[in-house]
Formats: sequence, structure tokens, C-alpha cells
Amino acid sequence: MFLKGKRALVTGSTSGIGLAIARALHEEGVEIVLNGLGNPAEITKLVGELEAQFHGANLLDPQEIEAMMREIGPVDILVNNAGMQHVAPVEDFPPEKWDAIIALNLTAAFHTTRFAIPAMKKAGWGRIINTASAHSLTASPFKSAYNASKHAIAGFTKTIALELAQTGVTANCISPGYVWTPLIEGQIPDTMAARGLTREQVINDVLLAKQPTKKFVQPEEVGALAVFLCRKEAGNVTGANWSIDGGWTAE
Ligand code: NAD
Repeated sequence: MFLKGKRALVTGSTSGIGLAIARALHEEGVEIVLNGLGNPAEITKLVGELEAQFHGANLLDPQEIEAMMREIGPVDILVNNAGMQHVAPVEDFPPEKWDAIIALNLTAAFHTTRFAIPAMKKAGWGRIINTASAHSLTASPFKSAYNASKHAIAGFTKTIALELAQTGVTANCISPGYVWTPLIEGQIPDTMAARGLTREQVINDVLLAKQPTKKFVQPEEVGALAVFLCRKEAGNVTGANWSIDGGWTAE
């Protein structure tokens, strides 16, 4: 139990991939700070289940991020995972959606990271994991803001890995393909509209068409990869972009 007693903030951990990462780290004895939006009763249940702390900062607001980082105190593991999507042709893409996606998927990670680093450096140990996407390595049409934010977070991750290379702190991206979560379910209607397809066509001909395994990635599989990146044995793994995409980006 190398990770027992370490503290992790997992952003966007009230749902989907972030929740699976929080659960996987909790099983290793990590103290979890949950963050995200959602139904208060469900969040209270998760806090009990994971014996966790919770901070409800809205990560679209840098002042709320700063307050959260001060209030929760130092963390050993930072998982920048909160993210959102919007699907529309670029000429119809609402500018406010562009700004929100860049703010949440990219800028929020800059702010949490800059506040988390000093304590990690002082401790001589830390792990920064950014949930990027297969869309950090390749693009799909109608996802301009998302693709831009995910390519950018991969570049940000490499930069901090280099800056922290001699401090005991590593920084890596995890890049899932399609994982069956509310984020994916939510984009199906917009994709049906943008491409003129049925729900089944979107699932089979757009989403799973990308993944040679023809299977959605499971959130628990992403959780297991995050645990590996936190292990002692992963101390020399830094600046990498870890695909977990059923072979999507091998093509
Ligand atoms: P999800 O919608 O299930 O979860 C998103 C989480 O982010 C939730 O906890 C939500 O409350 C939180 N969140 C949303 N807006 C927020 C805000 N303003 N402030 C704080 N928290 C906020 O989505 P998911 O599929 O689990 O996605 C998690 C991450 O994984 C995202 O960065 C996403 O881009 C990435 N990703 C998802 C897939 C996929 O197929 N699902 C694939 C690749 C990458």
C-alpha cells in the first residue's frame, strides 16, 4: 500500500471517469477530495462511500479554483479530469460554448496545477494526471473546441513534466477513446443533428467505428491506469500521453 495516506484531488469526480479514478485511488488507501457538480444527495452518498472530502468549486471560475486549492490544502496527487463537450459545425459553434470548453478542459488545469505544485516540490513527490482524450492526438469533425482543448492539455502536460523533471513530481496524460459516461450519452443527440443520423448509427458508425476493438472503454480501466501512474514504479514515467482507446490512434 505505497499510496496509503496520500491525498488526491480529482476534479470532475462526481461522475464517469473521474469517479472511477477516485474509487480506484480510494481502494489503494488514498484520501480523496472529490470535486464536481451534481445532485447534493448523490454527492453526500459518494462522500460517505469514499470517506472523502468534497469541494463544489465551479472550475469555470478561476477565483473559485483558487479558493478551493487554498481550502483543501496540499495534495500529493492532482487529477485534472473535469471536462465538457459540445458538438456543432465551427461556423455554428456558439462562442460562449467555445469559451466554456477551453476554460474547463484547459485553463482550470493550469490553475489547479499552479497552486498544487509548490507543496509537491517541497515534499519531493507528486503525481499530476490530466485526463486528455484520443482527441489530444487526432480530431473528429464538429468538436473544434474540444479537440483544441485536448491537444493543448497534452502540450501543457509535457511542459510541466519537463519543468518538474528533477523534483520527484511526474505529469502525464491519460487519453481515453470512447468511454460510456454521461458525457458521451449527452453528445449523441447533437451528433444525430449535426450528421443527420439515428442514435444507433451514431453509436455504431460514428463512436465505435473509431475503436478497432468495437467496445467502449470502461471507466474502471481508466482508474487502473491512473493508479499505475501513481505507483512508485512509475517514477520515471513522465511527460507521456497514455492512450486507452481500443486501438483508435494506432490506425
Ligand atoms: P462526465 O460528464 O461523466 O463527468 C464530468 C465531470 O466534470 C462531472 O463530475 C461534472 O460534475 C464535472 N464538471 C462539469 N462541469 C464542471 C464545472 N464547471 N466545474 C466542476 N466540475 C465540473 O464526463 P466523463 O466522460 O467522465 O469525462 C471526464 C473527462 O474525461 C473529461 O475531461 C472528458 O473530456 C474526458 N474524456 C471522456 C471520454 C469519454 O468517452 N467519456 C473520452 C476521452 C476523454
